[in-house]
Amino acid sequence: MLLQNHKSYSGDTQKNYKSIVQSIIDKAMSDSIAFNRLEYMCDTYGPRLSGSENLNKALMWIRDEMLKDSLENVKAEEVYVPHWVRGNEWCKLMQPREANMPMLGLGGSIATPKEGITAPVLVVHSYEELRQKAGEAKGKIVLFNKPWLGYGDAVQFRTHGAEKAAAVGAVASLIRSASPIGMQNPHTGMMVYADSIPKIPHAAITHEDALLLERLQARGQNPVVHLYMEAQTLPDALSYNVMGEIRGTEKPDEIVVLGGHSDSWDAGTGAQDDGGGCIATWHAVRLLKELGIKPKRTIRAVMFVNEENGVKGGKAYADKHKNEKHHLMFEFDSGVFAPDVIGFSASDSLMEIVKGFEKYLQMVDSIKVTKGGWGVDISPLARLNRIPVMSLGTNDEGKYFWYHHSPADTPDKVDPVMLNKCVAAIAIAVYLYSEME
Ligand SMILES: [Zn+2]
Repeated sequence: MLLQNHKSYSGDTQKNYKSIVQSIIDKAMSDSIAFNRLEYMCDTYGPRLSGSENLNKALMWIRDEMLKDSLENVKAEEVYVPHWVRGNEWCKLMQPREANMPMLGLGGSIATPKEGITAPVLVVHSYEELRQKAGEAKGKIVLFNKPWLGYGDAVQFRTHGAEKAAAVGAVASLIRSASPIGMQNPHTGMMVYADSIPKIPHAAITHEDALLLERLQARGQNPVVHLYMEAQTLPDALSYNVMGEIRGTEKPDEIVVLGGHSDSWDAGTGAQDDGGGCIATWHAVRLLKELGIKPKRTIRAVMFVNEENGVKGGKAYADKHKNEKHHLMFEFDSGVFAPDVIGFSASDSLMEIVKGFEKYLQMVDSIKVTKGGWGVDISPLARLNRIPVMSLGTNDEGKYFWYHHSPADTPDKVDPVMLNKCVAAIAIAVYLYSEME
């Protein structure tokens, strides 16, 4: 079906976009290609950790599929990315009894010595408590057992726990996984070291085992743990930002970028984080193309690489494309669930116009337009050139962080209907924005 180009969108005085929006929704909701491709990518190429062969194979597959979709200017732009590899690893309770503890080394961590580290455990809940117990930390494995108060709160121990523990003489550090629930499922993620403090191995264990260690400590049973890790950081590796677009008809040099990040952690297959975000943004563009919609401005899907441990893709895109005129940057990296918020960061006058998208977005689901667009990959260029930022938020009923960065982030966690709704919402928001005066 070929739809004629519509008059420009300008808030409340806009032409009625109802029929074109309905056609976007009808097409998105009857689609199975987006979900099939998400499953195929995750199942065929597996985890997509930066620097891995799996990731580059998946990226070449995306490029080839974009060509099959007849997107224009399809390309893979070279980006050098950090190359951390996990190797073998394990964690065992040694005292008062022996037991395996499911664990994941944290991204960027060093290895243990070849014989591993066997040491008593000191359980704390905060940096303040670690300061108070600094005298007890020397030679121990410090465990940060912080109850879940949200990702931002939990992630500080993942990111900086090793340097805080090393500063008081610990030989390794562990965190309770950054997740609201346990189910013996460990969650990895990025960590960093401070240059001035010795580096110690840093890993995540499960809620169940963190709570076990805490109970043992509370009873004075002095738990002892053995940690073995082979993790290492290799030289930066070649990878790619993959992109394809629909050229604009009236203002082809003005670009609306939308995307997600192609890389994932190595534990699951990154279906929610952020395979779904990549597939949804790419298929929003594919959908507009299939419908024969000819946007006024260029709409470009970018699969940014290396969000998880370096943001090298976002930075490389900013560097290479900073002289192009970007009209909007849109990112989807919050999990594929019921779409419920289009977040937007720009001037009040633009916000007023984007508010006008609500009645069209609500043809998909009860989606609100609110202040606060964000995206890790789009932020380098958006900040540099002060470009309006938009993102899709979803109502995950608290579930996103059940799977995030864990072996459980697999395609069965994605509901195909929700994926299609996200595709529709993104296509509508991006298309209307590209039509703006
Ligand atoms: Zn992500």
